[in-house]
Amino acid sequence: MAIADKPTDLSEQELESVKAGEQAAGSGHVTAKPLQASTEPKDGWVRQKLPRERLNWVNVIFFGVISVLAIYAIYNLTRNPPSAKVVWLSLALYLFTTYGITMGFHRYFTHGSFKCVRPVRWMLIIGGNLAVQGTMLKWVSDHRIHHIHSDKARWLRWQQGQQGHDPHSPTEYPGSRGLWHAHMGWLMRQRENCWVNMRDKQYEGRQLDDDRLVRVASDPRVYVGFVVARLGLPWAIAGNNGFLVAGVLTTCAVHHVTFAINSITHRWGSRTVRDNNGRWYIKDLSTDFGGLFALVTGGESYHNGHHLDEECAFHGRKWYQLDSTKWAILLMERMKLVWDVRKPGRRPLRFNSSQYEQPPRFDRPRVVERWVPPESGSLPTQRNRQLTAR
Ligand SMILES: [Zn+2]
Ligand SMILES: [Zn+2]
Repeated sequence: MAIADKPTDLSEQELESVKAGEQAAGSGHVTAKPLQASTEPKDGWVRQKLPRERLNWVNVIFFGVISVLAIYAIYNLTRNPPSAKVVWLSLALYLFTTYGITMGFHRYFTHGSFKCVRPVRWMLIIGGNLAVQGTMLKWVSDHRIHHIHSDKARWLRWQQGQQGHDPHSPTEYPGSRGLWHAHMGWLMRQRENCWVNMRDKQYEGRQLDDDRLVRVASDPRVYVGFVVARLGLPWAIAGNNGFLVAGVLTTCAVHHVTFAINSITHRWGSRTVRDNNGRWYIKDLSTDFGGLFALVTGGESYHNGHHLDEECAFHGRKWYQLDSTKWAILLMERMKLVWDVRKPGRRPLRFNSSQYEQPPRFDRPRVVERWVPPESGSLPTQRNRQLTAR
């Protein structure tokens, strides 16, 4: 059986088997455990309790340890004030890793917003990896999936005969997985359907997974080396206080600043971009934040502006918006280190007609309606798994 285009394509017999949980086993993005239908099926929909998602223990332990150490680092600051060396090292590492994420992993590798000389690319890879937010290919894949399915729940995509879901939306319509899920919870779970085909977008006129440097930098063993370097170098340079402040506390700060884009700017904030009829250009729930939030996130908090035209290198589209990543890109463009910068207005706005029209409800349902497809199709995952396994 192929995936049904509409839920009503299911026959009575198939609905019965869905109820019995026989259809739940899938090819990677459907839970293998049979689901228990909790109410009678209605128009092809089965009301079910969500299955428990397994924890990703590596991430649970890593984030747990680093959070405890960060709390101790704050306590330690009151007794043992940092030296000027530690303060400058912390600031430098904060900026280097933040721009590694905003300019590197996000605007360059995920969206191909500009082209740059090789040394800049190396610096962006090093900075992004030192931010300790997972391997680059995984980061890019997760974020591309986010843009494809912004604020769309998995079951809604299946209803439309499509696959995938937003990995970290706080407001999956019509329910809500909540801020914790959007902020960090999604990283603590064994997620399914984690890889998107890297061939849908290019950077530097090439496919991401064709780049040997990218594959090497995304190797888990290389990534572990970056994690050790991120925490070990500040200790080697500035001792225990260097480890606690420049190592642990700054890593933790960059984590939460990045994660806040996923949680806060899909829940609160203003949406500034409307068309001539006063309707939102984009129907997802991304929002804009200015001020201090824009400063600490390097301009990523103008998230509605980003979702409007994801390949644009400018997230703050107005001259007065505090998008420091945009300023850095423009400065490097003047220095001839960067070129082909995608600026606002260079391409027509792309309307995503598949985005829903109705505003979502923010309540968290105890039982979520999920569409169980008769049979899952195969995702374009195998090639990516092979590439990263090389
Ligand atoms: Zn977003
Ligand atoms: Zn993006």
